[in-house]
Amino acid sequence: MSGTISFSKQVNRFFDNAAALTDHDPSLLAQIRECNFVCRFSFPVERDNGSIEVISAWRAEHSNHKLPTKGGIRFSPDVNEDEVCALAALMTHKCAIVNVPFGGAKGGVRIDRRNYSDRELERITRRFTFELYRKNFIGPGCDVPAPDFGTGAKEMSWIADTYQSLNNGELNALACVTGKPVELGGIRGRTEATGLGVFYGVREACGIAEDMTKLGLSTGIEGKTVVIQGFGNVGFHTAKFFHEHGAKVIAIAEYDGSIFNPNGLNIPALDLHRQETGSITNYPGSKMMGKSESALELACDILIPAALENVITKENAPRIKAKIIGEAANGPTTAEADEILNKMGVLIIPDAFLNAGGVTVSYFEWLKDLSHVRFGRLEKRFEEYSFRRLLTAVEGVTEKRFTEEMLKVLSQGADEHDLVRSGLEETMSTAYVEIRETKCKLDGKADLRTSAFVNSINKIALCYGDMGIFP
Ligand code: GLU
Repeated sequence: MSGTISFSKQVNRFFDNAAALTDHDPSLLAQIRECNFVCRFSFPVERDNGSIEVISAWRAEHSNHKLPTKGGIRFSPDVNEDEVCALAALMTHKCAIVNVPFGGAKGGVRIDRRNYSDRELERITRRFTFELYRKNFIGPGCDVPAPDFGTGAKEMSWIADTYQSLNNGELNALACVTGKPVELGGIRGRTEATGLGVFYGVREACGIAEDMTKLGLSTGIEGKTVVIQGFGNVGFHTAKFFHEHGAKVIAIAEYDGSIFNPNGLNIPALDLHRQETGSITNYPGSKMMGKSESALELACDILIPAALENVITKENAPRIKAKIIGEAANGPTTAEADEILNKMGVLIIPDAFLNAGGVTVSYFEWLKDLSHVRFGRLEKRFEEYSFRRLLTAVEGVTEKRFTEEMLKVLSQGADEHDLVRSGLEETMSTAYVEIRETKCKLDGKADLRTSAFVNSINKIALCYGDMGIFP
């Protein structure tokens, strides 16, 4: 919480700023803004010591203008109804902004997963899935959960298995949830998708000379200094891709301490250190930051909040020194902080666009589960033979001979991983171009966030028009 207004109200404020720049009927705008359904669940779960605990959980379906609705399930002690509704609204706009044909949803279970054994987490996940099923809040055609803060592939496999046992013989049952392990109907490239999407989105923004000149920056990623808050799945993969492309990740902040190296941290080595010790703290290639120092306030080119909402507030916003903020988390900047940062000239690449890589690849996973075939399985060999024929023809006319090694590289057909990355890059690049075009058309009246929301509202309004509602 920002201390002033709720998370939902903040998202609504972003929505209202954009809605005011459209000419849609106010009742249509009200329909797009509201959360359509929210269900609160309480259910008992047996702890390993035999006691019974009553668990609170929520699922919100914000917009049914397209089905299924889509969005993660988080495990966090801070989950509440307002948060789940706000995050579901962000999912609606996220999907529309990157042209993923889903409505928005979100679920949350109010637990701190560190306090539960694996068996207990399994019982909680399976029981929540059963409750979602009873209320028709899960299914390949109605509502499809995914990982979020505090959940991952393991929880998704429990959800899939529970749903499948309740729907014996349903052909498309595995499409009831995404982010599953590859062996259980998941897709290659889903784990790193959000972080890779963040990288593609920031790279797109950094490629526009006009915008970089205004910030006093050169184009490109190489050499840029980056600070990342959060080193979970999203933060880690974001750091990894920036590092691989020549950026200097100078600081990483985690809940148990922040580390700093002005020459750039070695991300693979840091990951090994974390795997060995369980924490990024005391990594030999870095200095620990003091308790009173905030990594968010370090001087850098790009600041990436990649943990939870409301970390950049009106209190710390004036001290932010980054030129670009890439919102990898959902809702990291409060509405008040957003106004302050805009006045300071910071380029904010908004969450509803920037972290859409996860849901984009979830969409590909859902398509894979519905088609029951791995992407690339049919065409990979055919492509390879075609490339080979072409290269042989080139050899014929040029008298050049390729080595077997060169032939192998040049004739490689696309496998599932290649196709997922290609689809993700295309999605993020196209969406950024769409958002920037709207920003240019609005001629100084809107920042990137408002422009992204304008695009989303226009696309959703079109759906209602096509359905014959609010024509
Ligand atoms: N939890 C992720 C998000 O907030 C992914 C959602 C999904 O894949 O459905 O975007």
